[in-house]
Amino acid sequence: MIKTLTVKNGFFLTTSGQVAERVRKASAPSMVALMPGWIPHVKPRLLVKEGDAIKGGAPLFEDKRNPVVVYPSPGGGVVKRIVFGPRRRIDEVVIALDETEGWERFEPISPHRIAHTSTDTLRHMLLKGGAWPLIRALPFRDHPEPSSRPVHIIVTLGWAGGHLARPSLALKGEEAAFQAGLAILRQFCPSVSVIAPSDTGVLPESILHSVTARIQGGYPAGDPGHYLYRIRKEAAENHSWYIDAQDLVALARFVTEGCFYPKRVYAVGGNASTVCEHVSSRVGAPVATLDPSGARRRQIGGSPFAGLFLPATGFMNFFDKGLTLLPVGDEEDFFGFLRAGYTRPSLSRTFLSVFNKRPLDLDCGMHGEERPCINCSRCAEVCPVGILPQYTMKSMAAGEVEEALSHGLLDCIECGLCAYVCPSKIELLDLLKTAKTQYRKERDG
Ligand code: SF4
Ligand code: SF4
Repeated sequence: MIKTLTVKNGFFLTTSGQVAERVRKASAPSMVALMPGWIPHVKPRLLVKEGDAIKGGAPLFEDKRNPVVVYPSPGGGVVKRIVFGPRRRIDEVVIALDETEGWERFEPISPHRIAHTSTDTLRHMLLKGGAWPLIRALPFRDHPEPSSRPVHIIVTLGWAGGHLARPSLALKGEEAAFQAGLAILRQFCPSVSVIAPSDTGVLPESILHSVTARIQGGYPAGDPGHYLYRIRKEAAENHSWYIDAQDLVALARFVTEGCFYPKRVYAVGGNASTVCEHVSSRVGAPVATLDPSGARRRQIGGSPFAGLFLPATGFMNFFDKGLTLLPVGDEEDFFGFLRAGYTRPSLSRTFLSVFNKRPLDLDCGMHGEERPCINCSRCAEVCPVGILPQYTMKSMAAGEVEEALSHGLLDCIECGLCAYVCPSKIELLDLLKTAKTQYRKERDG
């Protein structure tokens, strides 16, 4: 029976630039890229240099913390450029694709043999082929430690809010791979849940039958961290894994076909997007092939609340399923005070936009400077997992890690709503993410 849960404080934001229910096939790119510096937690060590020929799916870099975890090249060709950012952060590894791409091949495991294949064999294959990082581990949202065993595995069909590709479109024709993926996950842990926000579009029958919980409410309904927060009974259950449905398909196709699966459907939207539609392309595709407008805009991989700004050169990140394009928001708003916020999306009821029922335009402007916390508690009011972000932040600033943990630091699902609503413009999401990382470093030594 399908369970129904509701997100407490789910956030409904009616903005312009919503993604339409259609899929366009993007033109074939001549280059793809992987952006190690944009992958949280990982400490990349490159395994290639500029000019090297590389097959698609061959390891591009390894994680220094655990070199058995490698990330695969999203295409076959020549390493055209490696771009370094501040402090030698590896921003982009760009591959110029060959006309006939070569792909790294592994011994496939047919779907009916998965249930008879040992966990060690599957783990070894996923690690060797670079498919292991497709699985993520809570609460830090890093790839799982290869020797770890999860308590639950959560497969999410997407988040509410329309910032990720709709499962009804992204999973079309992938029903068999989806089921094979579930069989693979069950070899790691018998407790596998498939969760979906209430609005997924019409799902293929076999996928619909696999759904164990529907999550009602606005953003971030469908977030695996939120689901775990709602179902867990003891702290040990925090050690659970999750995977997005498109990544599950890629993982299953890798195992059953023995080759990296690059296909990806992106939801491209936002009020600076010229297309606002789903686009079928591949992992690491150039943003320009998804939305060709050259207008001055910010490119965000994922949701406007919690996505990461992509570099202006513009490739999609390894985990992105959505692209939000927004105006920079630094233009002068002449006589803006006369409009009293009528067109400005805000949670605040002091803005006239509470009376404006039309979709509103978001932008990336701060609309003010960061100020001290005024203890208004708006951040706590929107937090879907009941954290008091303002106290968690202050505890960390005072070096009181234990107190921050008692306020629920590790429950934070990094949805970004607290930062979005904060009238003092405090970058709460960044502070909370940094605090989690710092705690983990200290814990692991
Ligand atoms: S929303 Fe901002 S100002 Fe208000 S309590 Fe939270 S951190 Fe402080
Ligand atoms: S603390 Fe902020 S980012 Fe974390 S779950 Fe709550 S609202 Fe989301």
